[in-house]
Amino acid sequence: MIVPFVGLKQHYLAYQSEFNEAVQSVLISGEYILGKVVSDFETALAKYLNCRFVITVANGTDAIMLSLKALNIGPGDEVIVPVNSFIATAGAVVSVGARPVFCDITEDFNIDVTKIESVITDKTRAIIPVHFTGRPADMNAISALAKKYNLEVIEDAAQAIGALYHNQQVGTIGKLGCFSLHPLKNLPVFGDGGFISTNDENLYRYLSKLRNHGLKDRDTCDFFGFNSRLDGVQAAIGMVGLHYLPVWTKKVIAIADRYRDALREVVIAPSDASNTKSVYHNFMVLTDKRDALMQYLLENSVETKIHYPIPLHLQPASKSLGYKVGDFPVAESVAKRMMSLPIYPELTDSQIESVINTVILFHKKQS
Ligand SMILES: *Cc1c(COP(=O)(O)O)cnc(C)c1O
Repeated sequence: MIVPFVGLKQHYLAYQSEFNEAVQSVLISGEYILGKVVSDFETALAKYLNCRFVITVANGTDAIMLSLKALNIGPGDEVIVPVNSFIATAGAVVSVGARPVFCDITEDFNIDVTKIESVITDKTRAIIPVHFTGRPADMNAISALAKKYNLEVIEDAAQAIGALYHNQQVGTIGKLGCFSLHPLKNLPVFGDGGFISTNDENLYRYLSKLRNHGLKDRDTCDFFGFNSRLDGVQAAIGMVGLHYLPVWTKKVIAIADRYRDALREVVIAPSDASNTKSVYHNFMVLTDKRDALMQYLLENSVETKIHYPIPLHLQPASKSLGYKVGDFPVAESVAKRMMSLPIYPELTDSQIESVINTVILFHKKQS
């Protein structure tokens, strides 16, 4: 493969000595779960996000699940989720016993804020906007609806660390923000990891215990909780990454700009909405010739993916929720036309050129 879809190994090799040193320092410290390296990482993340508190957890899915728990959302409650997201957004809602209620998206892949009101019921407790592919959702509209109907907003910022909405970091606008440190995300570690951001001190105190069995101290359990903690090794790796995150973000934005400029005649790619900065966890385009283009790219050694080919309401897991084909026309249409081009900081100039040239060549051959 000339241009693989991801470059995890290159990412490690590019910063090998720093990552190795970080890991070794934790191994030597003997402090393997939580501890100083983890709390230092939380402080650094809060500083980066310009919010008051960060609580690290075991993964991004737990970040959402624990956030729902902290807001006392559970059986009998409904939570609004965009119908095109990674399954974890809906899975976390189900895991606390609540019901995910899906909402259609627009062609820019984010929740369609004009359709949220029509799915609000008297059981609705929260909205989980997803900043899909690192493009900020329309938070002003979402916050206004939340206020009007007295709903909580939990941001799923798993794909969007560093993205800005009206100069504010996404994940710090709603009551709680959920992030993932999964190796494929914008701030990757070498295993699972995640965190929650908040400006609410009570939620911070509660979540700090909830992720650690409800323990107030070594011997006293205030309430029954979960084991959802971050390893010191992953925190140390994340700390190295946080240092480079602005550089990586700049690089992927530059790649996105190049793709958009070079391919504007042949595919549709959403541009940044006004007053936002997107961080391009994925670079997704729309084309009616999607399957043929993906096949052609693969034959020419450029790997692409679809995020995600099956909308949430059509997943086998959603069967009992009672949705059917046709319920979310935009998401269903987009699912047939969208594809993601490779985008990561380690892509070389010639790899970027390969992607662009191959996409253009495909269209030349078609016409
Ligand atoms: C990755 C992801 C998650 C879950 O994060 P994990 O760390 O893999 O549990 C949740 N929501 C979205 C939108 C994601 O992309």
